[in-house]
Amino acid sequence: MAEKRQKAVDLSHHLSDVSRARATSPLKGMAKYQGRPGLISLAGGLPSEAYFPFSGISGDALVADSFSLKPTEQESSISWFWKLFSRSNKEKTNPITIPKYAEHPAEDVNLAVALQYGMATGLPQLQKFIKEFVEKIYQPAYDDCTIMMHTGNTDGWSRCMQTLMNPGEYLLTEEWTYPSAVASSKPYGINAIPVAMDKDGMSPVALRKVLAEWDTTTQGKRPHVIYTVPVGQNPVGSTMGAARKKEIYDVCVEYDLVIVEDDPYFFLQQGEYVPKASRAESADTTSEDAWLAGLAPSFLKFDYQGRVIRLDTFSKYIAPGSRLGWHTCNPMFAERLERQGETSAQAPCGFGQSLVTQLLYHWKMEGYTRWLHGLASQYKIRRDWFIDCLAEELHLEATTSNAVSFWKDCVVYDAYAKRSNGWMMSEKDSVGTKMLSFVPPTSGMFVWIKVHFDNLPAYRRGREGEESPEIQLWTKFADAGVLIAPGWFFAADVENPPTDEMEGHFRVSFSNADFAALKKAAQIIARETDKFFKA
Ligand code: PMP
Repeated sequence: MAEKRQKAVDLSHHLSDVSRARATSPLKGMAKYQGRPGLISLAGGLPSEAYFPFSGISGDALVADSFSLKPTEQESSISWFWKLFSRSNKEKTNPITIPKYAEHPAEDVNLAVALQYGMATGLPQLQKFIKEFVEKIYQPAYDDCTIMMHTGNTDGWSRCMQTLMNPGEYLLTEEWTYPSAVASSKPYGINAIPVAMDKDGMSPVALRKVLAEWDTTTQGKRPHVIYTVPVGQNPVGSTMGAARKKEIYDVCVEYDLVIVEDDPYFFLQQGEYVPKASRAESADTTSEDAWLAGLAPSFLKFDYQGRVIRLDTFSKYIAPGSRLGWHTCNPMFAERLERQGETSAQAPCGFGQSLVTQLLYHWKMEGYTRWLHGLASQYKIRRDWFIDCLAEELHLEATTSNAVSFWKDCVVYDAYAKRSNGWMMSEKDSVGTKMLSFVPPTSGMFVWIKVHFDNLPAYRRGREGEESPEIQLWTKFADAGVLIAPGWFFAADVENPPTDEMEGHFRVSFSNADFAALKKAAQIIARETDKFFKA
């Protein structure tokens, strides 16, 4: 028998003044009558569906198992020409159609409804699918957890921030974080308090310390909201496992915090990087259920009180242009977020919602899970490829770090200029200066690279009027044709980054460029870094 779960506790004291001031929409009372058979509705300012120019929309959707679970020649080929022909030959699709008037409007998507003004919560058919998906995959620990659609996690976070926080309050976040989250809260007078990280993400010890030492007389209200990217941590690429999530959750219960879990990379968990020489390139034969069971769980799994607002998005799994995602949270937060949605986007776009819903109904839960599994494998192949390329261009040495940093106990790859032909230099000279270090990501789309500018010759350091070494090297890469993201972007507190000037960082994305371009980028990064250190 299923375990009985309790309902969410009352967390209404976390609401911001703006959120409390939002009145229930006068139109809400009418919503329950909408769709009632025979109802003549003359109440809303609705355009007539008869004048919508689309009598139906259709598309060709890839089959759910389009992406192999093992590296194939096709994916790792560096020939675009070969790829072009092989892909068009192999691509299997099925037609997806959404008629203006569906035969079974209660179950099927009806374009006339999807394109009409709709509820901020999203299309009912989409909500039904997502509700089942959330229960199956994330297994929330309380009973009355609610989902409602949003227009992507950017919107999802912006709504959470405005619903939970007042100007002048502080937000707790990983010391390196997604810059757009900080940028959206700053203009509201909400600044980030960085919390130190280790290999599992935010440290519960550091979190407790910030909270325990908070002085309300000098610092104002103690922070009550955490913004976290626990999987594919942007920019660091770490994965927060079950034990760490439970520890963080316990601190949140103790100090009465709300957690906003921004998790766009949840399904892109890749496990540890294994160097090419020791890697077995065999097919992943794990069943979908076993694959899902092996993923680090969501915070929802530990959320017995309803203090997590989870943000999911279709951006990385279907397309960013779908501008579609959802909140999963307690019903009281969901209701306030809905009120906010009603007066901003109103509802996610009907075209996007209907296409995504029809695709999910066509694939079904099993198909969508297989699709996600395929994507996880593809991004793992890309990660491995890019790191293999770096290993070809640089001399890498793997060590287990015991330095007190967020890489403690990780296998850190230190990069030196590639050894020359041996006869030219002694073994010692050929290793030379440690230029870069990185820990291969275990999820997501990014490699976070540390640059040891402290190993530059003394005369090159801190010269008056010069840009920081991070910007200088970044400019060299860009001039040579590779654009990557400079580390300072990602500091939770840009004025006080968790590093000194002689230690730079770059975030390199392996998610989008083709394999040949990734290889070329690794060559340029190695060459320009080497030149920079030798100049
Ligand atoms: N949150 C994080 C951590 C991200 O990395 C991104 C995409 N780069 C987003 C949110 C944006 O997601 P969406 O497209 O759903 O707005």
